[in-house]
Amino acid sequence: MTDLNYIRTGYCSSCGACCRDLVLKVKYRISGDVAQYLTARGVEIKWGPRYTILNFPNYPCPKLSPDNTCSIYNDESLPRICIDSPNKKWHLHKNCNFKIEQVKE
Ligand code: SF4
Ligand code: SF4
Repeated sequence: MTDLNYIRTGYCSSCGACCRDLVLKVKYRISGDVAQYLTARGVEIKWGPRYTILNFPNYPCPKLSPDNTCSIYNDESLPRICIDSPNKKWHLHKNCNFKIEQVKE
């Protein structure tokens, strides 16, 4: 798959990992008491120069079915992000079958 922002190869093996962990990028650096609190709560934090990536492991989406399929996949309420991702390297779960070969963020 190709567009202006990325080249994605691979396929989805329906492992469900990206729907079980919640990964967010915020455009500032989280630090101090908030970072300490999140770390104590089991959130994995990665820092960039002007951003922070937060990984909430084992925070499953309530729409995830036991067979790892999405119960609203054909519904108009499916979030746009779920359709488009992964489309950035930081979206990729470590076990994801997709590869992002080029990214301009
Ligand atoms: S809405 Fe569906 S695709 Fe999106 S995170 Fe939840 S289970 Fe996954
Ligand atoms: S982590 Fe990758 S392979 Fe697994 S369900 Fe998500 S998109 Fe598919």
